[in-house]
Amino acid sequence: MTTEKKVRTRFAPSPTGHLHIGNARTAVMNWIVARHHGGEFILRVEDTDRERSTRESEESILRDLAWLGLKWDEGPDRGGPHGPYRQSERLDLYRDRMSDLARSGRVYPCYCAPDELEARRQERLARGESPAYDGHCRELADAKRRAYESEGRVPAMRFRVEPGETRFHDLIKGPIGFANETIGDFVLSRGDGMPMYNFACVADDHDMEITHVIRGNDHVSNTPRQVLLYLALGWTPPAFAHIPMILGGDRERLSKRHGATSVDQYRAAGYLPEALVNFLSLLSWSSESGDEILGMERLVREFDFGRVSESPAVFNTEKLDWMNGQYLRALDPGRFCELALPFFGAAGAPAADIRKVTDLLQSAVDRLSQVPEKAAVFFAETVVPENAEAEAILRSPEARRIGEAFLGQTAPLVSWNSELFLAVMKEIQKGTGIKGKNLWMPIRVMLTGQVHGPELPKTAEILGREKCRRFVRESLERSGDG
Ligand code: GLU
Repeated sequence: MTTEKKVRTRFAPSPTGHLHIGNARTAVMNWIVARHHGGEFILRVEDTDRERSTRESEESILRDLAWLGLKWDEGPDRGGPHGPYRQSERLDLYRDRMSDLARSGRVYPCYCAPDELEARRQERLARGESPAYDGHCRELADAKRRAYESEGRVPAMRFRVEPGETRFHDLIKGPIGFANETIGDFVLSRGDGMPMYNFACVADDHDMEITHVIRGNDHVSNTPRQVLLYLALGWTPPAFAHIPMILGGDRERLSKRHGATSVDQYRAAGYLPEALVNFLSLLSWSSESGDEILGMERLVREFDFGRVSESPAVFNTEKLDWMNGQYLRALDPGRFCELALPFFGAAGAPAADIRKVTDLLQSAVDRLSQVPEKAAVFFAETVVPENAEAEAILRSPEARRIGEAFLGQTAPLVSWNSELFLAVMKEIQKGTGIKGKNLWMPIRVMLTGQVHGPELPKTAEILGREKCRRFVRESLERSGDG
């Protein structure tokens, strides 16, 4: 009888800064795989680097994950049957595991100081040898050990790697093998007793019953070390999947140079979490349908390791903008307004009927942060042509004729809306014989100062008849009458 194990994935951030977009992508993948299999998604905080880890970073990472909509089933904030979920609170557990390894003779104390290690490593490199640890403390005589200790040296614990090859099967990359000589005996815990990443990670992934370890390709060289530890502890390794790196447009690894790199920056720029999750999933995976706007539900349903590409993914901001625009257009207009309002800052939106403006702008922006700047024309008290092109349009003889006709046509009107504006424009066309772009552009620039913008009849309706007339009049006055 076989019992299928419940799929359990984890995201294991080090709380040393904001949630990086590459790590967010790793979290997305783990979340999707867990949900796809009806399994569980665990959040573990890897905070053994005491100097660089902070509670603020942990909080900001949790906040960003929650904002992305990636709910975790167990974690430092909500507990669970395999806690604690912060490595700094699991030190006793690592000590027990270390004792197990010591009993089976798989670890030994290493007294080498960092500068000694580095000097010998450089020598080996200069001789064209492997930079792996040279085994200096592997077979230390007791007397030598005592001598080191009397010098005040506190040993790190190293894991013995025997000659051979360590193999594992990667769900994305296929079979992978590493020669153990290139790995060398590696450190499991430092002199102060703090566990190193590979050791704590294996102890926790095992204790937390993780079935799939999904992480960035930059960790692939850690995996043989981890596999060796699983075997030494008598455990079965989980399945591994290393997802390809993310590159900037110049095909260099994504970094600050390429612009925004953390999730909070994307939130501040007005991207929607569901658009970001969709975009990050598609960096190295595609739906069989070829569709790109998928939504969380389809991402979860259609995910398949077989369709994850092995090659690095290029982060294309234009595509993200396009995708975000699609998600923004699909929002309920009331929700769009609600999400756009905070972007007006502490002072809030400049008018009570802001909803009319956001309804109009919903199809005109790719990011929520663009709403205030695009909304500005509706609240301006004067119109300033935005550039030389706009100025040239206002100076054209057509502009004067159109403007004068506009004032004439609108003077007797008692009500005002987009239909009436259209009717006025039709009359102007009839009266002046000017049509198309030559008719519409001057009016657009007179009313907004801009050459491009949202739908003009609606814009005119929102501005109101009085303001439209005033702006046209002021524009005619400014360009002089001959
Ligand atoms: N704390 C590690 C990191 O942030 C976790 C790597 C892993 O998923 O094993 O890179």
